[in-house]
Amino acid sequence: MAEYEVTIGLETHIQLNTITKAFCSCKADSWGDAPNTNICPVCSGLPGALPAANKAMVEKALILCLAMNADINMTSFFDRKNYLYADLPAGYQITQNDKPIGIGGYLDFQMDDGRPVRVRIDNLHMEEDAGKTRNEGDIRLIDMNRCGVPLVEMVTQPDMHSADEAATYLIKLRQLLRWLGISEANMEKAHLRCDANVSIRPKGQVKLGKKCEIKNINSIEAVRTAINYEIQRQIKEVEAGNEIEQWTIEWDNDALELRKMRSKETAADYRYFREPNLMPVVISEEFLQSVKEGMPELPLARQKRFETELGLPAYDASILTADRETSEFFEEAAKVYGEDNKRVSNWMMNEVLRIVNEKGIGVAELKITPSNLADIIRLVDKKTINTTTGKTLVDKVNDSGKDPAALVKELGLGLVSDDSIIREVCEKIVANSPKEKALYLGGKETLIGWFVGQVMREMRGKADPELAKTILESVLKAGEGN
Ligand code: ZN
Ligand code: MN
Repeated sequence: MAEYEVTIGLETHIQLNTITKAFCSCKADSWGDAPNTNICPVCSGLPGALPAANKAMVEKALILCLAMNADINMTSFFDRKNYLYADLPAGYQITQNDKPIGIGGYLDFQMDDGRPVRVRIDNLHMEEDAGKTRNEGDIRLIDMNRCGVPLVEMVTQPDMHSADEAATYLIKLRQLLRWLGISEANMEKAHLRCDANVSIRPKGQVKLGKKCEIKNINSIEAVRTAINYEIQRQIKEVEAGNEIEQWTIEWDNDALELRKMRSKETAADYRYFREPNLMPVVISEEFLQSVKEGMPELPLARQKRFETELGLPAYDASILTADRETSEFFEEAAKVYGEDNKRVSNWMMNEVLRIVNEKGIGVAELKITPSNLADIIRLVDKKTINTTTGKTLVDKVNDSGKDPAALVKELGLGLVSDDSIIREVCEKIVANSPKEKALYLGGKETLIGWFVGQVMREMRGKADPELAKTILESVLKAGEGN
């Protein structure tokens, strides 16, 4: 069997989290609302209704362009893309065609094994969403709530070469969108949708093979599965001596199968022309500057800084920058703690993120604060509490929102570091364990661990184990020669 190279380009539709729609003042996020309750003459395409562009949409699109390192068109235009479909009441979609807001750019990211990938972007354009159709028996129902919802469509170059790279690109894009706060990027709620252009060619061939476009891929897992199915289908066709035809294919995630929809349309089919009812989008230097100033440090840059400046292992840096809130919580805790960032990273990953996972919440919803976490690690360092108590204290602080030191006092969690109390217990244990004592004195020094365990049990874990060990040694040896 010949070896094939796979080439994948992705078109993503990103729903911007504006309050109102792209060209009217209807509510943009109508998830779960009754059909056709968030519509007006503009978004339901009534003749004569006049659209007006939403500034928040332009601002969020601009933020994305900057994050993707795209060139900004300081003047861009809206166009009409004409086609007839039940979910498009106006008969055209307002989009940007030949002069979109962003051109070029790229997204850099790392695969799980650390391998760097750069996916170049062809362009980013603003457009409105269409509605939804649903069949009920013989009846076709139309919901126009989603008509006019602001989207950015982002088209990549054919720079990905496996389903895994395509899936990772989407994971990183989703992370970036949430990080920037411009989209909820929830694929299940269609905030982030993806079509994949897939082609194969024999290894070494320069010319790209004919591509097929897979539509309707609505989860990361589906991206992996659908692309892999399509690669296999194309290989089979080629191996059977058939030509690949340029198809548009629909992914059915329930049946796990690809279905041919139509032969792929070309741009000429849409008869694009300028939207006559909208002004050009003109971005001023001042506006661009203010948006630039508001940009956060981006995920990959922060991940690398956590490694180089804070000295974290690559694994930690990647986990701690999975989302912006986690990275900010960690960095603040590390700053308050002031030394040994790796120690804070361990506590963060093992305890704080454990609670986040157990409760299925975000870091932003935690009651425990970064300085609470730093305080808890300090309490362990100072031996006010032991590590096990420290771990449960993270939960207790998060449940109550109380100060760690105050909770230690209130619940009596502190370690006993009073020599005389520990000595009393040690003497009692040694007196009650003549056999172990003899063995220990006979040279089996590892038994000291057993003795420490007995003391810890007697004191319900609240003895300072180091101190208990020292006292035990002196008590045991004091008896030597008797
Ligand atoms: Zn409307
Ligand atoms: Mn589109």
